[in-house]
Amino acid sequence: MTRKTFDAFVDWLYLRSLPNLPKQKSPHAGDELSHTDDESFLNSHEITKVHIFADRYDIPDLRRDTIDMMFAYFKSEKKIPTAETITMAFGSLPDTSLLRKLLVHRYCESISNVTPEDELLWTHEILHVVLARYREIIQGSRYLLDLDLCDYHGHANEKEKKKCQKKREAQEQYD
Ligand SMILES: [Zn+2]
Repeated sequence: MTRKTFDAFVDWLYLRSLPNLPKQKSPHAGDELSHTDDESFLNSHEITKVHIFADRYDIPDLRRDTIDMMFAYFKSEKKIPTAETITMAFGSLPDTSLLRKLLVHRYCESISNVTPEDELLWTHEILHVVLARYREIIQGSRYLLDLDLCDYHGHANEKEKKKCQKKREAQEQYD
């Protein structure tokens, strides 16, 4: 675990919130590997690390919060996860993982995201999942271009999902 991951966890433990996302959009949107000196926020690689930590030590609330944060990060920063982040997630999270699902769905939002370098880096499992997602999109999945955060919450039923959506809408209005 890195210092940044640990700090984020401690903050979450005491404040019940994760570091805020940056308000300004990076001039290099899309280039997640571009280095930032701003230590106060987590990028998707770091959020994934915190999520892996939450998964390993079975902390469901932190697991959920990191998914919420990842979703918000993708929305505000217009970034996609790097091939390295996806590799790390697949190496450390179970195949039922909702974060893995979110990362792949986000990555697959554009076919132009796939590079030969990514393909070389990835295991058969990752390539299989990415390919399956593209197949879903081509076949007209409702998720295309409009991902729903609740699809990554693992809600037990539609009622719970609706409740969560209502709560989030209310919060967004408050923000
Ligand atoms: Zn939800």
